[in-house]
Amino acid sequence: MLEESHYYFHKAADILGLTAKIRDILLTPHRIVKVELVTESDTGELQHHLGFRVQHDRARGPMKGGLRYHPSMDEEHATALANLMTWKTAVVQVPYGGAKGGINCDPRQLSDSELHKITRMFVEQIHEIIGPTLDIPAPDVNTDARVMGWIMDEYSKFHGFSPGVVTGKPLELFGSPGREEATGRGIMHCLESCLETQGKSIEGITVAVQGFGNVGSHAARLIAEKGGRIVAVGDHVGGLSNRDGLDVEKLAAWAAEHRTVAGFDGGEAFDSAEVLTWDADVLIPAALGGVLTRENAGDVRAGIIVEGANGPTTPEADEIFAKRGITVVPDILANAGGVTVSYFEWAQNIQQFRWELDRVRTELAKTMNNAYAAVLETAAEHQVDLRTAAFVLAIRRVGEATLARRHVNENLTN
Ligand code: NAD
Repeated sequence: MLEESHYYFHKAADILGLTAKIRDILLTPHRIVKVELVTESDTGELQHHLGFRVQHDRARGPMKGGLRYHPSMDEEHATALANLMTWKTAVVQVPYGGAKGGINCDPRQLSDSELHKITRMFVEQIHEIIGPTLDIPAPDVNTDARVMGWIMDEYSKFHGFSPGVVTGKPLELFGSPGREEATGRGIMHCLESCLETQGKSIEGITVAVQGFGNVGSHAARLIAEKGGRIVAVGDHVGGLSNRDGLDVEKLAAWAAEHRTVAGFDGGEAFDSAEVLTWDADVLIPAALGGVLTRENAGDVRAGIIVEGANGPTTPEADEIFAKRGITVVPDILANAGGVTVSYFEWAQNIQQFRWELDRVRTELAKTMNNAYAAVLETAAEHQVDLRTAAFVLAIRRVGEATLARRHVNENLTN
């Protein structure tokens, strides 16, 4: 994954003519922290886990990024995802750098009280390097508002009342209205902007979605609300299709209860993997990284791909899409709605003032539309695809902030 995010970085850096020294500075993480977490299980045995926090870049503000609890979490994974956060926050122009981290564990094998204990131990180990003006974690895979509440509570024991240390908190604990749907809403705005450039609108468009969790379900709901037809959804268990459009509200209620879309009676079942090559105008991968590859890119039938997941497209697939004229709205733009509303939450925490939901939605729409327009303009300026343009824009912004902090006679480019 690190190799892939570096590939996209260098492709854009080549277009900018970035110097080798600046590339090194921008790619090297600011700090990598690895901590040992020894706790006791509910049955009185020792439990042993490793926690990670990679702080990638802080030129544009405090570092920001999720915490993932997963068996695949390690230094390389956290570094690649921290990297993406740096570019993502720059594309939408929220005043942050990038970070990511988490704990190498399988939450399904842990009880609630064990997860709670491990989370508090993790905060005990890293509390000196996170904070509202330093590094602000957020939920990611297998962490949620509840975990963020525990983190806020533990951090506050060391540093006093500090709601701004994490975002994605429960509403009762200084969370923001509109945070949960934010990534899906951002995807809907990006799709709208993309269709607009082709003289179309969401009304009547057919959409296939991989993943029906937080990102996929909200994106599908909001697109359906605008008249789009969600014709296929696939998750880790199965797929479900309906040519007339699935009833997304009912499907979401079913999925919330059964933790899968499989078994819902409002459509026909199919093998989940087929969702990526479904006959639809738009494909939204909103589950895992690395799913669109050299092997299946030639079979994708959608004309537009909006990346909900982080890193769903490998560089080989990206090149195939470019050759086939398929428009890819890249992850660092398309799924930036979440970090944008996290920024609104942090701003509310610092101001000790609560925004209404309408204000959150209006500001999010403004941020996403401005970001899309800036990426589009950069794409036209350099005659490149949207992903390369998003990286060019982000690298330029982070690079310029890096230089502006120093007293040097140096340029970003040769
Ligand atoms: P989630 O855990 O809520 O949902 C994940 C979905 O993916 C589930 O429906 C699950 O069934 C499905 N899935 C898992 N394995 C699958 C497989 N093998 N095939 C098909 N489907 C599979 O997660 P989420 O928060 O919706 O995040 C989804 C993606 O979006 C991740 O890549 C995440 O990093 C990225 N993302 C999330 C946010 C956010 O705000 N939640 C923001 C930016 C990016």
